[in-house]
Amino acid sequence: MPETRYRGRFAPSPTGPLHLGSLIAALASYLDARHHSGQWRVRMEDLDPPREEAGAAESILTSLQRHGLLWDEEIMYQGARDADYDRALAQLAAAGHLFHCDCTRAMLGPGGACGGRCAPRQDAVSAPYAIRIQVPSDTDIRFVDQVQGAQQQALGRELPDFTLRRKDSLTAYQLAVVVDDAAQGITHVVRGSDLLDSTPRQIFLQRLLGLPQPHYCHLPVITSDDGQKFSKQNLAPALDNARVNCNLRLALRFLGQPLPPGSARKTADLLDHAIAHWSPAAIPRAMAVTAATIGVSG
Ligand code: GLU
Repeated sequence: MPETRYRGRFAPSPTGPLHLGSLIAALASYLDARHHSGQWRVRMEDLDPPREEAGAAESILTSLQRHGLLWDEEIMYQGARDADYDRALAQLAAAGHLFHCDCTRAMLGPGGACGGRCAPRQDAVSAPYAIRIQVPSDTDIRFVDQVQGAQQQALGRELPDFTLRRKDSLTAYQLAVVVDDAAQGITHVVRGSDLLDSTPRQIFLQRLLGLPQPHYCHLPVITSDDGQKFSKQNLAPALDNARVNCNLRLALRFLGQPLPPGSARKTADLLDHAIAHWSPAAIPRAMAVTAATIGVSG
């Protein structure tokens, strides 16, 4: 069988403009894909309208383009993918993995699990309810992350169940990401370490749905000096699209990559150098790195 061609992706949520933290994830996934002569796709994770910001999706896409990060094929929008999520839920329900849960937040246990309280009283569960998946207690998930190394989670013990469709009828990220990575034929997931602890849930779902497991590479996240993640939530500054090369050089320094020579003045030349010299082995083997390390105050 021919080897499956590399397909990577960047999957932003449109909750705010691109910032240095999200540029790092976009750039690393782009360089890894292009270094392997692979495809790079963009998926807009517009799954949670209450958390979204008007105009953010367009602003993210404009910033990606201005930084020379040009994607292949059509952008996938999760907001238009309910039929596929419904199909995956129906498949899991038919195999007896799902239950309805009307627990209030205060009733939930560690990690937000219902702990099976609702499972035996399905006829008495009242709307609005969440749809949860049961994790057999002996479920143990292991995988090797390219940056973070060997990972293991006793998922069944730590998280006996988790939500796939919320009470407000929105599809949960964990289900959507698994369905969509498979639908887009993604072979390599390169993203921030803040999603490392979601990965065992995603592998669990891939196995139940009979979907392939991509390779994972979780990058350190950039934090401010006090250890806070640089994110849309703590209002990390939007990238200045007039300083594209400077932003890309900062992201490359953060990723431990060799810097293109000063003569690489055009963004395309800078990216070509970065693609040719891309070295995942040089990425810091850490969950987080402070912005001060690359000379940015945070
Ligand atoms: N949409 C998620 C975020 O912006 C990323 C999802 C992923 O890369 O799996 O944090």
